[in-house]
Amino acid sequence: MTLQDAKRLLSQWTDRDHRWITAPVTVAALLVLLVLVKSCQGIAYYNSDECRIHRLGYPIEQAQLLVNTLSDSQVDSLIARQEHDTIAVTLIRARYFIADNFDRYLAFHKRDTTSAPLSNIIALVNIGADQDRATCSVPCDTSKGQLMLVNGRHYLDESYKPDSLATFGRSYCYEEQKALPVVVDAFMAMQQACKEQTGAQLMVNSAHRSYQQQIAMHKRSARGYAAHAGYSEHQTGLAIDVTSLEHPMRWPFDKSEECAWMHEHCHEYGFILRYPKRQSLVFGFAYEPWHLRYVGREVARRIHDEDITFDEYYAYYVGREEIKDKR
Ligand SMILES: [Zn+2]
Repeated sequence: MTLQDAKRLLSQWTDRDHRWITAPVTVAALLVLLVLVKSCQGIAYYNSDECRIHRLGYPIEQAQLLVNTLSDSQVDSLIARQEHDTIAVTLIRARYFIADNFDRYLAFHKRDTTSAPLSNIIALVNIGADQDRATCSVPCDTSKGQLMLVNGRHYLDESYKPDSLATFGRSYCYEEQKALPVVVDAFMAMQQACKEQTGAQLMVNSAHRSYQQQIAMHKRSARGYAAHAGYSEHQTGLAIDVTSLEHPMRWPFDKSEECAWMHEHCHEYGFILRYPKRQSLVFGFAYEPWHLRYVGREVARRIHDEDITFDEYYAYYVGREEIKDKR
């Protein structure tokens, strides 16, 4: 009941048939009603999520932020823990924070013994590094097209084949290689620009690999570099391994001028360096200076500008849409 409701009730009560009620009584009744209303409002606020979180030690403004950002069940578990978690609000204000992952960030932070910065904790949880690979692997969502995510936790089944594959011309690869047509076109443009600016000729070492080819490659590869069948981006037709005519071997290539050029400019052609050196320390993958992944120019530019991996990009900009869709 609001104050307006109380006034209206009293005015009805003091109509023509009840003129005997004097003004002081009316005022007193009004005051009693007002006190009752305010008391009810006070009790309601005392029992609200905002006030309960505030009583854990969070300032009002932070309590409001937590209530407005987290789901009801997350708020309940935050209150149930009965402690003022100093990183809760810092997490929410951090870049790439995903509300659905809130409890996992807190759990990861508690068990992390390396004192990793919060940005790393957010990145690692977002890409699922806090979960067991063996039990948390999920099928790749191929409906995402050129943004589909294939990694150690997202796999393609044996039957998956790209819709169409185009063959790279002889001046673009050492032996016949195929990829999605859009990838072939983008590589041709990039090769030409690289040649004009560095004098070196980029070449495709390896592109599309079927599930069966990946099985064979994994068997003969050095441990760590060839993924298990189903877990390789090469099955998508969107990934290429690149070296150059001048430096055909992968490791001398990584020190070459054309490799540096490719890392700096590949986003202009829709490619990203899928396993960059700097992030390999955080995520624990092997640095692959030759492995490019096609994602389209707009996405590649964003990944380049924000200096994030494709896994992080997918979690925040693509996977988060999936979470919304399920609601
Ligand atoms: Zn590769």
